[in-house]
Amino acid sequence: MVGAVKLKCIFCDVLSNKQPASVVLETEHCLVIADLFPLTAGHILLVSKTHQEKLTELSEIEMADLFLTARKIAPVLQAVTGADACHWLVNDGKAAWQHVPHVHLHLIPRYKNRPLQLLLGILTRPFMWLGLAQRRRRLDDFTHQLAEAIKETSV
Ligand SMILES: [Zn+2]
Repeated sequence: MVGAVKLKCIFCDVLSNKQPASVVLETEHCLVIADLFPLTAGHILLVSKTHQEKLTELSEIEMADLFLTARKIAPVLQAVTGADACHWLVNDGKAAWQHVPHVHLHLIPRYKNRPLQLLLGILTRPFMWLGLAQRRRRLDDFTHQLAEAIKETSV
């Protein structure tokens, strides 16, 4: 498109180090970070390194890397958080609640004994700007712990 102006993208800013993030790991095609507004404890995002809005716009290699990385991380994420299951969630387009038009896969730990936790996370998300600095430190600690656990399972 001639004259098109690329809109500011929070994930592109994270990828170019213009915005901070709590990083778990990086692969050739994706960056794994903590969700700054976690719906449950341990909620992470796998962000494509290329700015594409939809999954189908990724190359096969980029999509494979995204999902194979998630496959590697999900069991470790469950072990570290004590979760019983995990949502693998892609909001693929604005009508599907995609708030940042840049491909990202959510891994959201779920707990058998906390069925309402996800709903509570959705309802309280608008208020999560409060205590951001403190939460950032906790997320940094968590992503460090998760990264170490992933390294241990990869050996
Ligand atoms: Zn982007």
